[in-house]
Amino acid sequence: MEKNGDDIFSVPGIIYREKRDGTRFTGRRSTGLVLDALPFPSYEKLAGFPHAYKAPLFSYPKAPGSSCITSRGCPYACSYCDRSVFGRSFRYNSAEYMYEHVNYLNERFGVKHIIFYDDQFTFKRERIVDFAKMMINRPKKIFFNCVARAEHIDYDLLLMLKEAGCWMMSLGIETGDEDLLSQHRQNANLAMLSEKLHLIKKAGIRTKGLFMIGLPGETEAGINKSIGYMLSNPIDELNVAKFTPFPGSPIYEKIHELGEFSENWELMDCMNFLFIPKGMTKEKLEELFRLFYRKHFMKPEVLRGYTSMIWRSPDSWRRITFNLVNFLKFAISDKRLGS
Ligand code: SF4
Repeated sequence: MEKNGDDIFSVPGIIYREKRDGTRFTGRRSTGLVLDALPFPSYEKLAGFPHAYKAPLFSYPKAPGSSCITSRGCPYACSYCDRSVFGRSFRYNSAEYMYEHVNYLNERFGVKHIIFYDDQFTFKRERIVDFAKMMINRPKKIFFNCVARAEHIDYDLLLMLKEAGCWMMSLGIETGDEDLLSQHRQNANLAMLSEKLHLIKKAGIRTKGLFMIGLPGETEAGINKSIGYMLSNPIDELNVAKFTPFPGSPIYEKIHELGEFSENWELMDCMNFLFIPKGMTKEKLEELFRLFYRKHFMKPEVLRGYTSMIWRSPDSWRRITFNLVNFLKFAISDKRLGS
């Protein structure tokens, strides 16, 4: 960082590197930014936006899509989640700002689908109700996906979101082993999670189950419970993260006591087992990880869902057809392309 007068360094909230003194932190801001005061991101500076940025296959009905974040933070404290930047606060854009943002993406860039990456999209129910009402009254429909915590959805809200254009909702489940869940997350209640998954489906929204394997305390029996839970619930899409202990998460402090951890920052992307819980091996975790996905893709309802994507998400099938060779190589090798 070029020093340009001392003023920059008196601004709280900046972390920077100095050649001689290492890393410096100017301290936390005493007041949070008002998110509605910020301009929309400079999407035009992204080369090829929006067409160069593809949404995950089958996660949208129409292209092009864009991602968007309308809030910061989450008041919960899951053991594996880094809350060090936002603390346990929750700041958010107003419903009006969200709606204008959607309009801007659509009118300026032709975006037809938005993936909201907020940690807790529905945390402030009234803001989402207001946003949904605006989206329902919008003359042209824009579809969107969001992530919710099960405690913060109910059937009336889901029906409203569906009408507003909600295509898919992701729910953090993490594990089907309730004992393990209670060690890592508040309100570990698999029955409640299951009820909410059914409600999302009943409202006509696709469900995406977010799981994690390799948490401290994980066992083979626990992962098999997770697979059983996934199979017994209406989960259309699946994401299984390989547990990664990130600095800033509560579990990171004592991670070396809980198993073997090789802290390789290059590989800390939730797609590598860098942490091996006591009593497990990397080979076993990899084997169960593959089994998890295999079981999901062999489920008849899931296969029917993907078949229906021929008319519900034709762009996804078009992408698969054009990239068939690479797609097959990927499916057979179990590896990411280029890795
Ligand atoms: S995992 Fe989700 S619910 Fe838990 S603290 Fe992180 S953002 Fe909040």
